[in-house]
Amino acid sequence: MSGRAHEAGAIHGDFGHRGPAWLRTPIDVNALMQPLWPQTVHKGADGVLQIGGLSVTELAQRFGTPAYLFDEEDFRARCRAFKAAFGDAEVYYAGKAFLCKAVVRILSEEGLSLDVCSGGELATALAAGMDPARIGFHGNNKSMRELTEAVDRGVGRIIVDSFDEIDRLSSLKKPVKVMIRVTVGVEAHTHEFIATAHEDQKFGFALAGGSAFEAARRILAEGVLDLRGFHSHIGSQIFDASGFEVSARRVLALQKRVLDELGVELPELDLGGGFGIAYTSQDDPSEASDLADRMAKIVADECAALQLNLPHLSVEPGRAIVGPSTFTLYEVGTVKPLDGLRTYVSVDGGMSDNIRTALYDASYSATLASRRSQAEPILARVVGKHCESGDVVVKDEFLPADIKTGDLLAVPGTGAYCRSMASNYNHVPRPPVVAVRDGQARVIVRRETEEDLLALDMG
Ligand SMILES: *Cc1c(COP(=O)(O)O)cnc(C)c1O
Repeated sequence: MSGRAHEAGAIHGDFGHRGPAWLRTPIDVNALMQPLWPQTVHKGADGVLQIGGLSVTELAQRFGTPAYLFDEEDFRARCRAFKAAFGDAEVYYAGKAFLCKAVVRILSEEGLSLDVCSGGELATALAAGMDPARIGFHGNNKSMRELTEAVDRGVGRIIVDSFDEIDRLSSLKKPVKVMIRVTVGVEAHTHEFIATAHEDQKFGFALAGGSAFEAARRILAEGVLDLRGFHSHIGSQIFDASGFEVSARRVLALQKRVLDELGVELPELDLGGGFGIAYTSQDDPSEASDLADRMAKIVADECAALQLNLPHLSVEPGRAIVGPSTFTLYEVGTVKPLDGLRTYVSVDGGMSDNIRTALYDASYSATLASRRSQAEPILARVVGKHCESGDVVVKDEFLPADIKTGDLLAVPGTGAYCRSMASNYNHVPRPPVVAVRDGQARVIVRRETEEDLLALDMG
């Protein structure tokens, strides 16, 4: 994907109301920064956003706002692109990004596997008929109940995360397939990765200091569990393969040590997820196929150098598959221009349907979705309706100066970690997820109601 252009995409930083010189170039508030949007989305001549052949004005009438609009064709295309790019490698969709039964069915149809990280995600996968053998189970604190359920249902692999967990799983006396999660001392975030000192965290077994090797030694010595290999997940929003390169090198060196000292050649290797997507025009992610080629080459070269057989590779993309497939449709309420600063545009949702801006300082963009505007662009901040000044959805965006109550506003890139992290803060019911495809819309997660909220309240 290209695009460091500054069209209607987001503008970063706090530039005050004039901003740097490049910000003062003409901005077309009616244009769409296409790489940020699902494949079937475009704007009609009237400025109304269309998805899967339906207009958002019609969808807002039928399903209300806020709503997550999920482009099923786009989601399927990304599943296929990852499958094709990674060839023989196994692609596990990371369910924590967004999971519901309809998504599980699509994953099955498209031939992907699925990662879950709780009993609830596992129950969702099983309820939708996912083949348990294609499920991987993650987590740093899986309960005995969750582990027993996973083993009883025949979950394909469990990614063990601690010595306690090895003991818990071994006590079930079943030859469960396991991977060992390793923290390799690489942490990637956005455009940077840091190759030192990130082992001070709750996940996995540290490579440095030898606990990852010790975990392998213990599992092999006990002879109960079926150790398949090592697993490494280095972070999120990764834009190139260099972090994976360091991680693959370190894990394969460990694999070699296991072969040399314990006499076992582990047959699998999982390099995790974290492939980045474009949230704004400033992001320039790699294509799945480029990453796949780089990763395959790194692993092949390293195995050749270490005289190891090629392990069966797996990866775990979440965000890169579902993130761009969905946008959130809001209705504008209060519009408050602050003289000399910016205009605050309030929408009918906020941090309860997208916590990422508040939680990670994430950047998003937005576009007027219900009409064309001739007005000039103004610097705006899109905020929610919650009782919290940090309740920001889009930090900075140029919106038309005539933006007003009743307009529809769309925020792209909200498919991952928005509905799945949604809350009921301020007793705001969570929005629905509506799947659109070929001119048909169906609710795949219904809107929560005030009755739903009250149903839990025992008085
Ligand atoms: C979160 C996570 C993923 C998916 O990360 P994305 O950034 O959504 O691709 C994959 N594997 C593990 C172990 C994770 O914790």
